[in-house]
Amino acid sequence: MFSSFLLALTIAFPKPGQTLPPVERTYMSGSVPHGITNIVVQGKDVPVYWTGGWVTMVDLVEGTNVIEVVSVSTRTNYTIRVARRASGSSGAAAEPKKYAKLSYAKDEARKHPAGKKPADCVIVLDPGHGGANDCGAISPHGYHEKDANLSFARILRNVLVKRGYRVAMTRDDDTAIHRLERGRIACTNENAVAFISIHHNAPNYNRDPRGLRYMCVYAWNAIGKALAKPICDRMGAVLEGDIPNNGVLEANYAVTRNPEVPSCLLEIDFITTPEGEAAIWNTPRRFKIANAIADGIDDWLLAPYLKTKNML
Ligand SMILES: [Zn+2]
Repeated sequence: MFSSFLLALTIAFPKPGQTLPPVERTYMSGSVPHGITNIVVQGKDVPVYWTGGWVTMVDLVEGTNVIEVVSVSTRTNYTIRVARRASGSSGAAAEPKKYAKLSYAKDEARKHPAGKKPADCVIVLDPGHGGANDCGAISPHGYHEKDANLSFARILRNVLVKRGYRVAMTRDDDTAIHRLERGRIACTNENAVAFISIHHNAPNYNRDPRGLRYMCVYAWNAIGKALAKPICDRMGAVLEGDIPNNGVLEANYAVTRNPEVPSCLLEIDFITTPEGEAAIWNTPRRFKIANAIADGIDDWLLAPYLKTKNML
């Protein structure tokens, strides 16, 4: 979800000596063929991972942004991603950010579905990004976050359906959906009890991307946080010793501020490091995480009900 304050460009993999557009600070990742041992960016050696992936963060000076690629073949069908801070930041005080209201959402939260059976509950899954113009983050080998999100959401859907839940998806193919429209399906379905957006993370522009991995869950209002907490706890438990759990974080996103249907956004791992990229496509690990998320939903939905029945 970081892309809202980054201007992201995809440009052709640089030829030796190529001059890049001016940017104040640039994070780059890409991949090169096996056997390449190093590339040089602004005179600095950048390690190439065994997967062929590389990531680096460099300060670029206007007009002098030369990337020298050494020991690479002349093939140019690679892409790198360049992210930079959106332009226009002057010394003036920033305007307070205005958050668009979700026109279809009622101001009042739906009643917690305690006592309902899973078969009476629709869980809405929202695979983040989608379409030709919004691929989300990009992995070292050029995989798109939008595809990782959809693939994971389908696994989670299967797990939830096996537990008896009904599941609706905001998209089940490579479709573009505006961020303000994603919650509509939940608000127009009277049986929708939860809205869960699925993402894989990438670093902010000023973070060193090397080795950066953790999981976290974003929520905004009280109903969202109540849903986010048990999901986050269960995910953190199965990922302990694998990646850190950064917990439930507050974020006023279009997909977390829904006042009517409890909503949260999962950042499952980082797609931008080679280790994260490999883990994200590891099927047993994905099932383990999906089951943990389903456990968290069970906790949120069933625990108050079982408590009143003295079953806990
Ligand atoms: Zn995302």
